[in-house]
Amino acid sequence: SVWPRYYIHHASITTSTLSPTRSKTTLFAKRTIATKTHEKPAAHAFYDDKIVTYANRPIRPVTLSQLVRFGQPPLTKESLRDCAQYARTELPVRLARRVRAFQTLPFIVGTNPYIKEIYKLYYESFESLEPYSHGRSPNDDLEYSEKLEDLVDRHADNIPTLARGFLECKQYMHSQDVAAFLDDMIHARIGIRLIAEQMIALVRQEQTGDTNNNSYIGIIDTQLNPAKLVKQCSDFVAELCEFNYGASPETIIDGHTDATFTYIPVHLEYILTELLKNAQRATIEFARKRGDDSPPLPPIQITISHGQEDISIRIRDQGGGVAEDDLNQVFEYSYTTVSKASEDEDPSSIFTGMAEMAMQSGIGGPLAGLGFGLPLARMYARYFGGSFTLVSMNGYGCDVFLKLKHIDQSMAELEI
Ligand code: ADP
Ligand code: MG
Repeated sequence: SVWPRYYIHHASITTSTLSPTRSKTTLFAKRTIATKTHEKPAAHAFYDDKIVTYANRPIRPVTLSQLVRFGQPPLTKESLRDCAQYARTELPVRLARRVRAFQTLPFIVGTNPYIKEIYKLYYESFESLEPYSHGRSPNDDLEYSEKLEDLVDRHADNIPTLARGFLECKQYMHSQDVAAFLDDMIHARIGIRLIAEQMIALVRQEQTGDTNNNSYIGIIDTQLNPAKLVKQCSDFVAELCEFNYGASPETIIDGHTDATFTYIPVHLEYILTELLKNAQRATIEFARKRGDDSPPLPPIQITISHGQEDISIRIRDQGGGVAEDDLNQVFEYSYTTVSKASEDEDPSSIFTGMAEMAMQSGIGGPLAGLGFGLPLARMYARYFGGSFTLVSMNGYGCDVFLKLKHIDQSMAELEI
């Protein structure tokens, strides 16, 4: 890349510990400039060294069965200790690696306000959790778990924020590089959250003395009913659509609606919400394009099947489908067909601009326009060995097939 990179700034910090002659090396010609524009208070420099140290430590994956075992009732002092010790040493390493990943982005991309915001968030999270990695007294478990809750909370909107950032940086980075960065980032984020949430759940369990009255082991639900979740998500998306379009199609849920399985509800919720947004938006826009948006709109049909090893969910819409040429692109980050005012020569473009704004500023994430729905939904589906297939019936509609494996013994060795 032609842009000076963050690592230049870092090279200057790490080489400063070398002899003065070495640090005057001209290896990084633009170093001084980069350092100047990026001058940080001394406290940051101290932590920069720490970040490098932590980021260089290897990740210690935890298997899913270990994570579940931590949370399996009855909660013992040992399982809480093991989980706490693991989380305390592991999370700073993973967070430091995230910080480093941001520092390898092209300089100009790192100056984007959205991307900088998330970079800072990871930086601060590292700073707040690092002190806990030096040892544990069971007395501060509660305090530690409050820090983790804060982490989960503050990082909740990372993805749409990053999405906005990379959307604005489209011209500065190759789309493959963006994709590689985001794949890595989001994959790591899922792992960090799983570890943090498991620890939070355990401490909560200890505090309340809550024994196994519900179906949760940490954040894993052993009796997740997909039909119920589909209903919740589609109600939510319907509200978004009513807000954006003043209309929303009906949702029909059929098949094995009583089925339950073991899975992570927040993951499924994410997948379903994105797919339903796409289906509802396509249905409404296709109807309008045909000039036939008088109610009722064609419904969205969601069929659930309960198999030996997996749960399948098919989401079928009549939103016109995806054109053959676009089929490969729809899974790219930032690819969207929500029109940009700037690319639109139509004099009424101010209105498309406004429409775009409305689309992107919905509560609970935008309805559409960031181009992150499909690639992320697919990543979540695949994380635990599931599959995600989109089939388009051109000019008619789309089917999306989700196959999610039960979280069980078969994936005990899956590493997080
Ligand atoms: P966004 O919804 O923000 O545009 P997505 O990644 O969710 O981003 O989808 C990318 C594009 O794929 C959409 O803009 C749309 O053109 C197309 N698409 C996705 N799902 C459907 C669908 N069910 N029917 C028709 N087109 C779809
Ligand atoms: Mg979408």
